[in-house]
Amino acid sequence: MEKDFIFDEITKLKGVGPQLSKYLKKKRIEKIKDIILNLPYSETDRSKISKLNKLEVGKIQSIKVKVKKLNFPRLRNLPNRIICEDETGKIDIVYFNSREGYLRKLFPINKWIVVSGKVNFFNKKYQITNPDYVTTIENQEYVIQNIPKYNLTKGINEKKYRSISEQVINKVPVIDDWLENDFIKKSDLIGWNESIKNLHLSKDSKNNQSKSFRRLVFDELIANFLTLSENRKRIKKNKIPKQFDIDYINKLITKLPFKLTSSQKKVLAEVNKDLISSNRMFRIIQGDVGSGKTIVCLLAIVNVIKSGYQCALMSPTEILAKQHFDLTKKIFREINLKIDFLTGKTDSKKRKEILDNLSNGKTELLIGTHALFQKKITFKKLGLAVVDEQHKFGVKQRSDLAIKGGDNCDVLLMSATPIPRTMMMSMYGDMDISKINEKPAKRKKIITLSKPEKKINELWPFIKKQINKDNQIFWVCPLIEESSFLDYSSAKKKFKLINKKFPSKVGLIHGALKKEEKENILIKFLNKKISILVSTTVIEVGIDFPNANLIIIENANKFGLAQLHQLRGRVGRGEKQGTCILLFKDGLTKNAVKRIKILKETDDGFFIAEEDLKIRGYGDLVGFQQSGLKNFRFADPIIHEDLFKLAEKYVLNIRDEINKKKYSFLLKLFDRAEIINVKEI
Ligand code: ADP
Ligand code: MG
Repeated sequence: MEKDFIFDEITKLKGVGPQLSKYLKKKRIEKIKDIILNLPYSETDRSKISKLNKLEVGKIQSIKVKVKKLNFPRLRNLPNRIICEDETGKIDIVYFNSREGYLRKLFPINKWIVVSGKVNFFNKKYQITNPDYVTTIENQEYVIQNIPKYNLTKGINEKKYRSISEQVINKVPVIDDWLENDFIKKSDLIGWNESIKNLHLSKDSKNNQSKSFRRLVFDELIANFLTLSENRKRIKKNKIPKQFDIDYINKLITKLPFKLTSSQKKVLAEVNKDLISSNRMFRIIQGDVGSGKTIVCLLAIVNVIKSGYQCALMSPTEILAKQHFDLTKKIFREINLKIDFLTGKTDSKKRKEILDNLSNGKTELLIGTHALFQKKITFKKLGLAVVDEQHKFGVKQRSDLAIKGGDNCDVLLMSATPIPRTMMMSMYGDMDISKINEKPAKRKKIITLSKPEKKINELWPFIKKQINKDNQIFWVCPLIEESSFLDYSSAKKKFKLINKKFPSKVGLIHGALKKEEKENILIKFLNKKISILVSTTVIEVGIDFPNANLIIIENANKFGLAQLHQLRGRVGRGEKQGTCILLFKDGLTKNAVKRIKILKETDDGFFIAEEDLKIRGYGDLVGFQQSGLKNFRFADPIIHEDLFKLAEKYVLNIRDEINKKKYSFLLKLFDRAEIINVKEI
């Protein structure tokens, strides 16, 4: 089929061999259609022919000249030189490393030709060295124009790229637009074919608010959202509804040591509704650090067990898993659940016993690390998989998890990373979202202070006071360019310094330690064997250190707002007042000052995430990279916020009955087709 050609490999184009395709690959050009997505960033004006007495040195210009003489010196290293003239003056065209035969053909004596390139002035003469174009008068139109300028790489020049791109851009297949005409008009967009032409042949690509650019952004967004929607459909298939006794769970709730917040109640109701529905649950609970996600999940777990199913609760680390295990046993002491604990460290005898009990159905709830799903573990009747702190879980992992769980397994994720509203659909478009947006009432607000680093000495008395009160302290050193060696040495220096002041009260954790070594130190801290924990890596999300009430963050402007907020959330989880001290180098930028102010004023993670997005852009958004999503190429949630909304609405409207055929071209264009199994075009 005719329009199919754009999905072929780039090597199918004339003049693209293995070497060139290697260079193009560096520019993300692998298939022919990638030429369409590679937009020009500017243009080169070759449209005017300049007389030789009007040349401007240092600029790219086009000239019409008569070839007078070709000069091929027999000495090595001397360039070949062609002397040309027009009625106003003379110019040398200079070539290094060009063959004589080639040049003689290109520059026929006494013929008029057109040359375009950067003009220099050398030895009192104008010259153009290695011109971009030399052509006959008959073909001058190809050169004398505004030529789109693409971001090129070594091994490809404008002329070469043009010879490739024009094979595509001039032949973009006319396709039936997947957007309805009415919708295009109403949304102030433009047809696809027209937009592509404009983007390459006019200035539209340089204006990210031009209609053509916005059309491309919209397409990128719906391609992304449609893919997530298909993933969702694949997961939310039919299942046997769970059946449990709501009175039972309500009674259990009254026996908890605290009252659920109304957010927690709302979310639990949403989860329960999913559990009793005939579609599998694929839901994420989003709630700030300390908002009380765990208890909601545990209550859901009880419901599922009461329906006669087994449950699994996974955490990213052993310590966190252990905390969940202890908490669950404590809270549900009276109801006698059969709970097991499994990690990579469980010894083989115990492990065998646990696995037997899982497969014969004796165990009702298994708590552990990711090992739960990676190893060959068979549940007799798994009804719910819960994953804590899932932001390390990309789109692919979470859909793998859902599929591994089996047909009747509901899936519930918890995340403490607040996502700005605009980014919600891009990150979790395959899931249903429940938000806990209030915190248990009695929690004290953490005091946030800032201090220049040179006044670090003022901190020691304060720290001493904390240690004397039996409080514990986190000391976070800056990450240096992601080099674990430099991290290590800066953290080690700091460790030595602090250790001198507070001998044998300090521990050090850094990126070069093995997971086990890290956990050992964390356990020492948790058991109060040490008072200060110096670390480079972000302290494990989610672990409860009820005794830690002070966190000191060095070089705090190296961290994003959301990250600082999460770090701050490590302390003040117990009874004691928490304090966060942000240390800064001198000379803060305006932005930095703004950020400190926001942190001091609010502890609303969702609000902070919105502000973070505005200040830093979405590339830095916590969790975005970990999500496994490629950054958007054209769409920007700040600049195109309205289009994110529009695309979300558009896809939510059609997501239950996506006509894959209609969108197949679009999905292939953005490399989504394989993901959702689109074959036809
Ligand atoms: P996170 O959402 O960060 O995972 P947790 O579930 O660990 O938060 O809860 C933090 C702490 O708050 C826990 O000690 C938990 O027992 C407690 N908690 C949870 N819900 C409430 C509530 N409604 N009232 C008071 N304390 C609560
Ligand atoms: Mg948690």
